[in-house]
Amino acid sequence: MSDAETLFERIIAGELPSDVVYQDETTFAFRDINPQARVHVLVVPRKRYRNVAELADADPQLLADVIATAAKVAELEGISGTGYRVVFNTDQDAGQTVFHVHAHVLGGEQLGLFGR
Ligand code: 5GP
Repeated sequence: MSDAETLFERIIAGELPSDVVYQDETTFAFRDINPQARVHVLVVPRKRYRNVAELADADPQLLADVIATAAKVAELEGISGTGYRVVFNTDQDAGQTVFHVHAHVLGGEQLGLFGR
């Protein structure tokens, strides 16, 4: 992976503003600037990997931390009882735009089906 910093490093570092929902030693969660559901929170590991495949390969415990934070966010947002979706867009066809792996936590309403 290149050393070029992504937007999310700058958000985690507090150099760019964000609406933080939760943070701990290994993960950081903040609201998506362009929400696709009533609740739309991004969960990122503080350490950067390009996508979920690289993260799973390099550091499975950190991937588990990201998932645990997604569940924590759902609790904090009051949607753990009604349900939610956790999505990792991965590379071109999925429309990944920021190459610092992030989980989208979506919920707070009935979500549409997958696909186009
Ligand atoms: P991707 O398409 O890579 O899976 O998701 C990137 C997400 O980052 C998008 O949902 C987009 O709305 C969000 N995003 C892009 N720039 C910013 C920003 O400056 N602040 C926040 N909070 N979210 C951003």
